[in-house]
Order: sequence, then C-alpha cells, then structure tokens
Amino acid sequence: MTLPPVPADFHWHPEPWGASLRCRPFAAIARHLFTTRQLAIPQDEAWDQVSASLGEAPPRVARVRQVHGNDVLVIRAGSDTWRGQPDVEADAVVTDDPALAVAVLAADCLPLLVADRHGRAVGAVHAGWRGTAAAVAVKAVNALEREFGCHPSDLSVVIGPGIGACCYEVGTELVDAFASAGHGRHLIERWFSSPPPARGSRQRHALTLDLATANVDQLVLAGVPAEAVHVASLCTAMHPTVLTSYRAEGTSAGRLAGVVALPPRR
Ligand SMILES: [Zn+2]
Repeated sequence: MTLPPVPADFHWHPEPWGASLRCRPFAAIARHLFTTRQLAIPQDEAWDQVSASLGEAPPRVARVRQVHGNDVLVIRAGSDTWRGQPDVEADAVVTDDPALAVAVLAADCLPLLVADRHGRAVGAVHAGWRGTAAAVAVKAVNALEREFGCHPSDLSVVIGPGIGACCYEVGTELVDAFASAGHGRHLIERWFSSPPPARGSRQRHALTLDLATANVDQLVLAGVPAEAVHVASLCTAMHPTVLTSYRAEGTSAGRLAGVVALPPRR
C-alpha cells in the first residue's frame, strides 16, 4: 500500500496494525493519531490497539454517539461521566483526564483534535457540514475555556483527513443552512466555491464546500492562532486504499478515528 504524501508538519507512523497519521508540532503537547482503513474501526478490539499506539500508560478511549450536532461532552478527571459506552449524544468531547483519550469517528466528515499547550485539557471534534454550520469546533473551544480555563490562544488544533473541496459537490440548500446559522456572507463565499465550467461545456456550475477552510476560519475567529492550526489536506475520496469515504464507498464505508490524550502524568 502506498501512503499519500502529507504536508511537512505531518507524518505516517508505523503501527502494529498498519499506519497512523500524526502531526509533529501537535505531538509535542499531546498524544494523538488518526487511524487508517487498515484498522477495523469501530470494533471494540480496535480501540485497544488505538490505546496501545498512544504509548506508555495507555489511556481508555472515550467516545460519543455522533449526531451531526454541536453538543460537547465534558469529562472531568475523577468524574465517572465516561462509563465505557458511547451512549452520550454529542459531536465533540473534551477532558482534562490524562488517563483518558477522547475520540471521534469520521468517513468524509472532518475529525479535529484540540490540545492546550500547557496541558490543561484536550478535545476531539466531529465536523461534517451540519456540525460545521453549527460551529461545533468553536463550541469545543468555548467548552475548553469555560470548563478548564484553556485560553484559545493556548490551543493547537489538527484537522485530519476528510472530504476535500475537490470532491465535495453540494446543493445550494447548504449555503442557505450556513446563512441561517449566522455565518457572514463573506465567509460563506470563501467556503463555497463554484468553479467556472470548461469552455464550451454545457454543464452547470458545480458548487463545492471546503469544510477544512470553514473550520480553520471559525477557529481563528474564536482566537486560536492560525499558525497553531494544522491541516492534513488529505481528501478521503481520493485515497480509497488508505482512507475511508462515505461519498466514495456508500454505507459500507469503514470509519477513521481521530484520537487525542494528554501526556501521561509523571
Ligand atoms: Zn478530493
């Protein structure tokens, strides 16, 4: 299997089960990885392998029942909010517990990982178009500040593989949904593009959505430094042997996990 090239701040990391994607600058502040299709997520045993890949003192992996909304599950160290089953409906999960990793699943939707550079807390976010319109990443940033005192300027974010604007043709109703959600016209024009058809083509203009740019813009507006947001720029639909894509494969598509944990407590 050939792994696609990634930006300079990312690398493929060999795992017992295949390869994971990691971000170098982010690794300095948090344990993390994105899985590839070589790991059969979401089977229970796969979570043990994910945990083991996070290194010493492998954390339990907390998940949520993702519903394309913008609710954030807060798991405080010492609390028992996480009972071992992903039965809480939310699309972001944050924790200050170094014994816990938090994870989201995606197959075209973006998995985002967040960490505080002072080690206060981490978070994982699932952002498809609905979650992005509902600003779920910003809700996670707000929760990290409110619950754990993480200043947005201290946060770093990694945006993992997801459907790229290259392959994400959408209908105009999505533009309306983003406008109804309160996003400014100038931003919506940045996030949706309508490339001109080829000369002589009778094809109508295809409208595409750039989920990664929309999330980067929202995070920066929320106070996360632009240089602390790392984008893998890997389109799930274009790398079917490595990644998983709902658009490319339909309902049989597997899932990729994005997982993050604080460094182990010394
Ligand atoms: Zn693509």
